[in-house]
Amino acid sequence: MSTQDQSPTHDQAAYVATCPECDVEFQTDIANEIIEFYRRHYRVTGHHVVFDRTQLDLDEEVTGTDLKDVVWQLQNQYENGVPIGIISAVMSERGTSIGETLDEIHKVRMTGGLYEPRDDHLGAF
Ligand SMILES: [Zn+2]
Repeated sequence: MSTQDQSPTHDQAAYVATCPECDVEFQTDIANEIIEFYRRHYRVTGHHVVFDRTQLDLDEEVTGTDLKDVVWQLQNQYENGVPIGIISAVMSERGTSIGETLDEIHKVRMTGGLYEPRDDHLGAF
């Protein structure tokens, strides 16, 4: 982790996503809103937005590299499922884009490795 300059006068959202194809930007403090933005933008334009900034505020550092390990580690910190926006943000720090993470989630769910206790929240078996 590098030291960050944080100017108190500049109010920055925790998560920023941008579209590399049309320069649209979306900022929010709620990770799952990034996923909603991703889906909305993809539906309208066919573009894949990517994280531009992730400022995760986790109680414990996540060390896993693959999707299932990440969900497994995160689920201790979230009751009733880990928001997929948080999972995507962690995976993004590992070089996996939002679109790739959503595909991977779909695949792992098909094999029964993940479950969805409520919409857009996941747990790992
Ligand atoms: Zn776009």
